[in-house]
Amino acid sequence: TAEVIDGKKIAQDVRREIAQEVLKMKETVGKVPGLAVVLVGNRTDSATYVRSKKKACEEVGIASFGVTLPEDASEQEVLDAVSKFNDDPSVHGILVQLPLPKHMSEEKVVGAISVEKDVDGFHPLNVGRLALQGRTPLFVSCTPKGCIELLLRSGVEIAGKHAVVIGRSNVVGMPAAILLQGHNATVTTVHSRTPHPAEVTRSADIVIAAVGVAQLVRGDWIKPGAVVIDVGINSVDDPSAKKGYRLVGDVCYAEVAKVASKITPVPGGVGPMTIAMLLQNTLESAKRTFDL
Ligand code: NAD
Repeated sequence: TAEVIDGKKIAQDVRREIAQEVLKMKETVGKVPGLAVVLVGNRTDSATYVRSKKKACEEVGIASFGVTLPEDASEQEVLDAVSKFNDDPSVHGILVQLPLPKHMSEEKVVGAISVEKDVDGFHPLNVGRLALQGRTPLFVSCTPKGCIELLLRSGVEIAGKHAVVIGRSNVVGMPAAILLQGHNATVTTVHSRTPHPAEVTRSADIVIAAVGVAQLVRGDWIKPGAVVIDVGINSVDDPSAKKGYRLVGDVCYAEVAKVASKITPVPGGVGPMTIAMLLQNTLESAKRTFDL
């Protein structure tokens, strides 16, 4: 059976490294990195994400700032909040928690974040630079960056391998495919209109699944010995669970673990890495600001 890629432990290692660098920064320049989070509305999932991001900041010594606006806030109020953080020298990273309420444009709000503080890596200029060969984006979005970090820190060779990314979203699939290509993998993207997705996936040495369909990827989709990174977070009803549901990935873990050589669990795989990469992006931003 497959070796488990322990995202929780790897994320802990990353956070420990970040904490050391933050401490060093405090000693040398007398300042720490700062992350500002803008939350609009009262989605409980968004509030939970924001809380855990702030807590993660505190644990590594990054200062966290935040503003919460009501569901019926105007787009202008959100833009003003972003602009205030753009101008604040103690803020090195700005994150607007998505999704935003329907009556405002995410494109406009994300586009208003200073490119130098876009730690989520969603600003079109950063995405554009990621897509252009030879141009380095200031920030790469956290979840795909976390997937690559998991591969690298697990000793998985990417160069020369065939990687299949299932999903082509702006936040995960598309940037993951570009990053893998940058590491010299040969990349195929499988999406909702791909005929025979199982057959295509079966030719992969590395699979990144970012679909949002519970346990879509079955054992017979995987070539024996392949490495499987499961980004999916799907809740499925489970009367035996305390909350009445449990979280599963886009990969049928029980089946795939029998075939793959390495696999990430859900939870405890990609999820913890996403937050660790957010902290890392914030640290990198502060280092750039202080010329370190
Ligand atoms: P999305 O809905 O934006 O994109 C899903 C993609 O999957 C689309 O590109 C679509 O073409 C493709 N797709 C849909 N059905 C398919 C099918 N049957 N076969 C092949 N491809 C299909 O989702 P997303 O934002 O990319 O998120 C994907 C999953 O990852 C979700 O479960 C989400 O909760 C999870 N996620 C996890 C993290 C994390 O930190 N671990 C971060 C972001 C997203």
